[in-house]
Amino acid sequence: MISSHNDRSVEVLLQALPYIQRFHGAVVVVKFGGNAMGTGDHSAEDLLGQFAADIVLMHSVGLKPVVVHGGGPQIGEWLRRLGKTSEFVDGQRVTDAETLEVAQMVLVGKVNSDIVSALNVHGPVAVGLSGQDAGLIRAEERSPELGFVGDVTGVDATIVERLLNLDLIPVISTIGSGVEGQAYNINADAVAAAVAEALSAQKLIFLTDVPGLLADVDDPASLIQRVTAGRAESLIADGTISGGMIPKIVGCLRAIDNGVAQVHLVDGRVPHALLLELFTDAGVGTMVVGDDGSSMVVGDDGGET
Ligand code: ADP
Ligand code: MG
Repeated sequence: MISSHNDRSVEVLLQALPYIQRFHGAVVVVKFGGNAMGTGDHSAEDLLGQFAADIVLMHSVGLKPVVVHGGGPQIGEWLRRLGKTSEFVDGQRVTDAETLEVAQMVLVGKVNSDIVSALNVHGPVAVGLSGQDAGLIRAEERSPELGFVGDVTGVDATIVERLLNLDLIPVISTIGSGVEGQAYNINADAVAAAVAEALSAQKLIFLTDVPGLLADVDDPASLIQRVTAGRAESLIADGTISGGMIPKIVGCLRAIDNGVAQVHLVDGRVPHALLLELFTDAGVGTMVVGDDGSSMVVGDDGGET
């Protein structure tokens, strides 16, 4: 039994070798979804711990991970605890001044520091940033109706590059600044895509709470393993892609258009989904590719999806 266990361990390591070699030095932007993170129960803590171990392992074998995190459910929970009710317009939360304050406190003060500290359990590797730090994320108001909901208008990734050069792991929360210094709450998918583009990342991975892009959102077995940009656009147009999946897919398409070689949607609730995606032949989640089908700039992609 022991020897077959050892054989299996060796096999796993050998399977990882070509991936580790291929991705050595690669910038990989990982968007950690608020839903994949859970909202404070025990399983959420386990998921955060596993996520942190995966990111530190990536870092240890020579990749350059950059974490961008969400926190919508956590903001919702704190608004509830504070007895604040929200209005929604087209499914988007109206962010008045008070809601913005809660979003800042929860994203920057709580979610960001929880992720940073989970990473730093393994060694002094992670540094937390908000989009307001060193001019990282420039934003503007999306629409007057939505209040302080922002869209990304520019990214200055200098601070992120500096941290990567110091061999640190940047962890970014998605509050951005307008030209006058006004804070805006921004969808984390949009920020992840914009940061990946600004860094010319080799890979952008969205960790979410579904197995990937689904042909039928109510059927987890309807996973679409590979989708071209054109098909993705028509799936948005016909309503197959809705709600929180829209900014993800829009972000994927934007990243691909701007030179990010590989873009994946992966189920963050699956333990160590990141390692499976990066270092094994297992096909996990959905890969989004350009219309010519060519997304693999970093060598032959083997059986990876
Ligand atoms: P995150 O915190 O990861 O950003 P969101 O709730 O914003 O999570 O986005 C993921 C959600 O998108 C899924 O839980 C699902 O309800 C929704 N969704 C809508 N259309 C689809 C689709 N075609 N395939 C998968 N998920 C979809
Ligand atoms: Mg979302």
